[in-house]
Amino acid sequence: MAKEQLECSFCGRKKPETNLLIAGLDAHICDRCIEQAHGIVIEESKQSDSSDLSAELKLRKPLQIKEFLDQYIIGQDATKKVMSVAVYNHYKRLLQPATTDDIDIQKSNIVMVGQTGTGKTLIAKTIAKMLNVPLAIVDATVLTEAGYVGEDVESILTRLLQAADYNLEKAEKGIVFIDEIDKIARKSDNPSITRDVSGEGVQQALLKLLEGTVVNVPPKGGRKHPDQKFIEVNTENILFIAGGAFDGIERIISRRLNMQAVGYSASISDDVVDQNNLLQYIIPKDLKDFGLIPEIIGRLPVLTYMDPLDAETLRAILTEPKNAIIKQYKKLFNMDNVEFTITDGALDYIVGKAVEYKLGARGLRSLCEEILTDAMFELPSSDEKKLNVTKMYAEDKLSKTTLKKLKAVS
Ligand code: ADP
Repeated sequence: MAKEQLECSFCGRKKPETNLLIAGLDAHICDRCIEQAHGIVIEESKQSDSSDLSAELKLRKPLQIKEFLDQYIIGQDATKKVMSVAVYNHYKRLLQPATTDDIDIQKSNIVMVGQTGTGKTLIAKTIAKMLNVPLAIVDATVLTEAGYVGEDVESILTRLLQAADYNLEKAEKGIVFIDEIDKIARKSDNPSITRDVSGEGVQQALLKLLEGTVVNVPPKGGRKHPDQKFIEVNTENILFIAGGAFDGIERIISRRLNMQAVGYSASISDDVVDQNNLLQYIIPKDLKDFGLIPEIIGRLPVLTYMDPLDAETLRAILTEPKNAIIKQYKKLFNMDNVEFTITDGALDYIVGKAVEYKLGARGLRSLCEEILTDAMFELPSSDEKKLNVTKMYAEDKLSKTTLKKLKAVS
């Protein structure tokens, strides 16, 4: 009897028809089937990559989103709560199965109002990190209408593509943080006849992006590469978060509150108004009075505010967040086997200086840098393996610097 010829258990090819036949326990596989199977493995893993987002999102409810934010951001409870819900709803909208009913969940783009250095960018960054989606941070002040000097609004999407390593699918689920949105407000409430290059035109250009549209994006950005191929980016599922200081908006809020108090329909009377933090009463109409066009406000339906940072909050920012500044210095010194400690007195002193010079949270880092630079320079090559920063030590180091320098760094 002729010896049975070996064959691939998957495709049935006989051994002579293959280049390679690998034996398993009870079966054989040929080179072609291996390659095909390899292709399937790659394809499958790509798909599970893109469903990562859904897996992760299903895990986090608004409460958990807020808990995550709490690890990195001190205070700002109102904003963290509003953001948690908005982000949850946004991604719920992304994950909704195609339904037959007519209910379309609208985008929950967000606008945050608050002084600079209160954590607006930090919140956007932390959310992007939590969701593991690409984040583009853009400054509204550099945007202009097409044809003017500056960047077209499409450049926002170029940045997002870059942040997503040109993975279009990822970019289309990313987050865009538009900083200084208040700087493109109309300068006065009266629409002027002359063209307002910096303001209203840019707002108009932004409208479409915010709402959801397909935009031709130059992948390398700008007009320097005229022959690049455009990439079509759909902004429908991109979450836009806008932030701005809106200097002077408190006056608008205060005026409105006073009018309400005088009027018949007074809902908040004078005695319960917290004059130190008027931003908490902000409503969309105030943004309109500040100079944002109603259409933009309509497309940023979630409005929230940042609390000013008081000394207590600044103190907590120094030491409490997961990557708090002091923790970072500890780690840096540790890498040189230097044990770094800092006294409460020194911490209070640093906070006091930040408040006194109105440096805000950003100033905390520049103050620490000034105090610790000498030590960071000397200790790595010295035998001293301990550094205890006291108030006196901090005072001594800071006396050698100037306020001007601190402000420049922060
Ligand atoms: P904004 O965008 O409002 O101008 P940032 O988010 O850039 O402010 O904040 C500047 C820095 O100050 C951040 O990198 C962070 O270190 C610190 N910071 C500000 N606010 C907070 C906060 N509430 N909690 C923790 N750190 C904060």
